[in-house]
Amino acid sequence: TAALTLPLTTAAHPADHLDAGLPLEARVHALLGRMTLDEKIGQMTQIRVGKLRGDCDAVPGPLREDCMKPVLVDAKVGSILSGGGDFPAPDPSPKAWAEMTNAIQKYALDNNRLRIPVLYGADGVHGHSNVVTATMFPHQIGLGATWNPKLIEQAGAATGQAMRATGVFWNFAPVSDIARDTRWGRYYETYSEDPHLAGTLAAAAVRGMQTDDGRTARLAATAKHFAGYSEPKGGHDRAPAFLPVRTLQDQVLPPFTAQFRAGVKTVMINSGSVNGVPVHASKYMLTEQLRNRLGFTGVAITDWQDIRSLVTKHKAAADYPAAIAMAVNAGVDMAMEPSAAGEFTAGLRQVVRDGRVSERRVDEAVRRILRLKFELGLFERPYVDPAVANERVNGVGLDLARKAATESMVLLRNEKSTLPLAKGGKIVVTGDTADDVRRQLGGWTVDWQGVPEQGPVPEAVTVLEGIRAAAPGGTVAHAPGQAEAVAQAKDAKAVVVVLGEKPGAEGPADTEEPALTAAQQGLVDAVRATGKPVVVVLLTGRPQVLGSVAGADALLAGWLPGTEGGTAVADVLFGTANPGGKLPVSWPKRVGDQPMSYDQLPGTNGGESSKYDPAFAFGHGLSYTSFAVGAPSVPATVRADAKLKIGFTVRNTGSRAGTAVVPVYVHQPVAPLQVPDKRLVGWARVELAAGAQQAVEVEFSVEQLALTSGDVDGAGRREVPRTGYEVVVEDERAPFAVR
Ligand code: BGC
Repeated sequence: TAALTLPLTTAAHPADHLDAGLPLEARVHALLGRMTLDEKIGQMTQIRVGKLRGDCDAVPGPLREDCMKPVLVDAKVGSILSGGGDFPAPDPSPKAWAEMTNAIQKYALDNNRLRIPVLYGADGVHGHSNVVTATMFPHQIGLGATWNPKLIEQAGAATGQAMRATGVFWNFAPVSDIARDTRWGRYYETYSEDPHLAGTLAAAAVRGMQTDDGRTARLAATAKHFAGYSEPKGGHDRAPAFLPVRTLQDQVLPPFTAQFRAGVKTVMINSGSVNGVPVHASKYMLTEQLRNRLGFTGVAITDWQDIRSLVTKHKAAADYPAAIAMAVNAGVDMAMEPSAAGEFTAGLRQVVRDGRVSERRVDEAVRRILRLKFELGLFERPYVDPAVANERVNGVGLDLARKAATESMVLLRNEKSTLPLAKGGKIVVTGDTADDVRRQLGGWTVDWQGVPEQGPVPEAVTVLEGIRAAAPGGTVAHAPGQAEAVAQAKDAKAVVVVLGEKPGAEGPADTEEPALTAAQQGLVDAVRATGKPVVVVLLTGRPQVLGSVAGADALLAGWLPGTEGGTAVADVLFGTANPGGKLPVSWPKRVGDQPMSYDQLPGTNGGESSKYDPAFAFGHGLSYTSFAVGAPSVPATVRADAKLKIGFTVRNTGSRAGTAVVPVYVHQPVAPLQVPDKRLVGWARVELAAGAQQAVEVEFSVEQLALTSGDVDGAGRREVPRTGYEVVVEDERAPFAVR
């Protein structure tokens, strides 16, 4: 509305988009009005930085004018990205990053009549993860185990600050997909199997990334991958997903909704198909769901080359222009690395000229993109200061990374109080991930497949180093192999076995056997046979089926804990820290249990077959102290549009301080349309001194109980069933009704 009141086009005072004093919408309007079709199309294009340097393709090297010109001048491309492995080389320092993004920006601004800045994007999925000297936080699955939104907001803020310091103003994170199948390579990139937990944590990350400096957003976060990406059939990355409208709306979309409410600026589209329709071509998903139902107003970007995939993989379009028309009409605003820049822009120009895509649709997309660039302040501050980039990235956030890693530790099993380990004596450290930075940091570290074998390795504290630094008054023997471990165990007080998985992402990380290998189980069996206490630390991006390792004296899930992971593990092993993490996912007993989640619908097999039967349930996690939770109090009835407060007490009944995470569920005793036995609606997280008690209140919106009901085979509207419910907190229950 502000735009309409301004003299936008009068000859005397032409509104100038470069005038920072004008309202944002007026600037967008003024700029769009001046742009040619080619300029608009360029804004809808994002190209990987590799095309601007080296040999203008894959071979890294310095930026080259003859590489930049075809992209930034001829095709007028408005956005550049560093994809998984696309980082500056040979100098990988933050300073070199900043110099590179500045140089691209300068070249673009100097050669574009409207002075529209370039927006640079990258995957900062656990810190500024392309940068080898940046601090790495635990991957999302570990952060999910903290159940701590405040912490995740802080990690998001630290990530955002590091990225901005290098001129990267768009982060393709956080992942809003839910963890449903441990065979899927990208399982660890999600926060949780539970939509409410995943959504709450993703929203916190967005707040941290986008608004930490208290000004307008200085970085755009991304809700990805919209939607259904984590449900590929068989756990094979980018395989088709089949999602009844109930599953889509009640489980898959809510984490995205939570991010939209937190103001996330962009959405990345699921590369695969849902119900037989490629999402990049689905007007139902990209317009009806994303815009009309969920109210998202920001930029929708494709995933990697995914308009081309409509031709080459989905076979949904006969040729590239047809695919472009399909995707843009469905709701795509920007194409990520659509093969050659010129090919995409020519294709889009063609389909606009021949009427297959309206200029109105182009304007709508470009308006969103320009709005984002204005919001980010790029027109006023297109450059960053390379002189401070190193100090704003290198080693920044280590304390937070340690806290995050510590809070992510889930103590799965602790027989005869094996942990914490007493001081003194000899400790044997063994296992394939005891001293391996690459495995500890996981995928999306420097490269999408994890730290490359060639090139610099990030500094990180391994578990071996952490134990060495922490083992008070004792000796630590590192025994890389099984025979040495057994021999060393003879005079040891305890054996710590650190087991992990190969780092990776997407297809290369998919696995048909999300289970500890025979060699890993054999190592644990062999050291257990010595009779010494055996502690197994699992540094994996997913629950691994344990096999014989299930019987180890103590089991600690440390996920992919990042730079400070080894310190955090040692803190928990020696009791410097009391583990407070809770499983954000179900830990399966058998490989064949996939896909798995606690909110499965009831089956009818009388035996075990259709029951939820995990090795460790969603929400499980032991502590060195114990807690007692009082009966919840709730009002007897509540309106469907109200918020509900649930009060209860939490008491630390043990002898040391600790963190209690208390999930609050709602159970619906009778439901004609099946519902899960319980659904998470909130949780309390309290730090309590020994003997201390605290009254807590967990608030949730009754609308969280909405289900797709009635017309599940049709439009699938969501509503809150007006019926009786029970709040479930630990073993205590309290009834209420929604009217
Ligand atoms: C991934 C995205 C990522 C993009 C850019 C794709 O292969 O699916 O999650 O943001 O690459 O690196």
